[in-house]
Amino acid sequence: MAFHTLGCKLNFAETSSIARKFEDNGYSKVDFADAADVYVLNTCSVTENADKECKRLIRNVKKLAPQAIVAVIGCYAQLKANEIGQIPGVDIVLGAKEKFNLPHYINNLSKSEVAQVYSCEIGETDVFISSYSAGDRTRSFLKVQDGCDYTCSYCTIPLARGKSRSDSIDNVVAQAKEIAAQGIKEIVLTGVNIGDFGFTQTSQTEKKQETFLELITALDKVDGVERFRISSIEPNLLKDEIIDFVAQSKKFVPHFHVPLQSGSNGILKLMRRRYMRELYTERVARIKQVMPHACIGVDVIVGFPGEAETEFLETYNFINGLDISYLHVFTYSERSNTDAIAIKNVVPVHERKERNKMLRILSVKKQRDFYNQHIGSTRKVLFEAENKNGFINGFTDNYIKVQIPFSVDLINTMKDLYLQNINEAGLVSATPVKEIEVLVSK
Ligand code: SF4
Repeated sequence: MAFHTLGCKLNFAETSSIARKFEDNGYSKVDFADAADVYVLNTCSVTENADKECKRLIRNVKKLAPQAIVAVIGCYAQLKANEIGQIPGVDIVLGAKEKFNLPHYINNLSKSEVAQVYSCEIGETDVFISSYSAGDRTRSFLKVQDGCDYTCSYCTIPLARGKSRSDSIDNVVAQAKEIAAQGIKEIVLTGVNIGDFGFTQTSQTEKKQETFLELITALDKVDGVERFRISSIEPNLLKDEIIDFVAQSKKFVPHFHVPLQSGSNGILKLMRRRYMRELYTERVARIKQVMPHACIGVDVIVGFPGEAETEFLETYNFINGLDISYLHVFTYSERSNTDAIAIKNVVPVHERKERNKMLRILSVKKQRDFYNQHIGSTRKVLFEAENKNGFINGFTDNYIKVQIPFSVDLINTMKDLYLQNINEAGLVSATPVKEIEVLVSK
């Protein structure tokens, strides 16, 4: 079997869990570029040109293994089930709810001219299915929440993934222990809107049973996991209690990823985001007040309709003035079924691209400044597994990417490193603290 994932960490976690189900049933996994009997493509609704990407991957599969079964699942499969079913070579399409039953469908499927399409109304997607990734043995993406009840005007995720719902704290803790037992040292908590953690059912009348703060408090006590990272959290849900908890925790790392999307209040309103830029400033200030070394990543969308030069510069200057560490820049693109496509004053595509470029340059500058602030300090680095042309990469707790000469003994280990300088690749060169101690004593 071969799997390919498009999109976010949540999709990776889900693909990984679905693949494990197959492996438990005796299937073996191969690379997507190799010949296989079954190919599974887990799609994303946010990916630019999702349909073209889908078609391209399926064409490759058809050339490689014409008799293989092709299954398309996930967010894009939920949104455009019938269209995907028409793509030549596709045998089965499974939407948001059905994708977790893929092994059952595959066991009962044979190749035919017409694709089978199973995609229920998104309102019926009300159960939470736990998932985690366990690919590289260093870091695991653990799904704690799914779906979203917000109505941001540009977003298709609520249509693709349904209402907000969560795992129970007990189950997340059990999964974290299972992950730790496999020797994985870092867990990244993932979801669509993880700050909204707590609804165990989709019903709006259901009382919120548990909170994100309770979740991280429980996880902090799990033995065997060295680090927890919170993947991305809405600024309006990143309360002081959460920031303060992370500040005193030995396991939750000082790294936050907080979507901003625009630094213009007018655009934030058009986007139907649930905060104004002033709140964002407060959050960044609070994080830096209690964790001056914290890394803060920011999502931003450029070229949203109504974003004239003035609004873009407002965003640029706002971000430039914030003590943040890097940006993820997205170029707005029209999505059917969203309210944003009706908003006037569309930004020309070349202008969107130009703005994207400007913010990417700003991101490089911000990241360099952040890295520079830590040169000459010592931090814990968790090394990954790959040998990259004689080097091995790892991340500090506060998400500085470090590169040192490869050694097998370093794989999946945590070391205290003295951060020396930024190398040509823009990564930080470092020396193990023990080696520095030896030099000093000589
Ligand atoms: S918070 Fe907004 S952007 Fe994020 S998933 Fe929900 S609707 Fe989409």
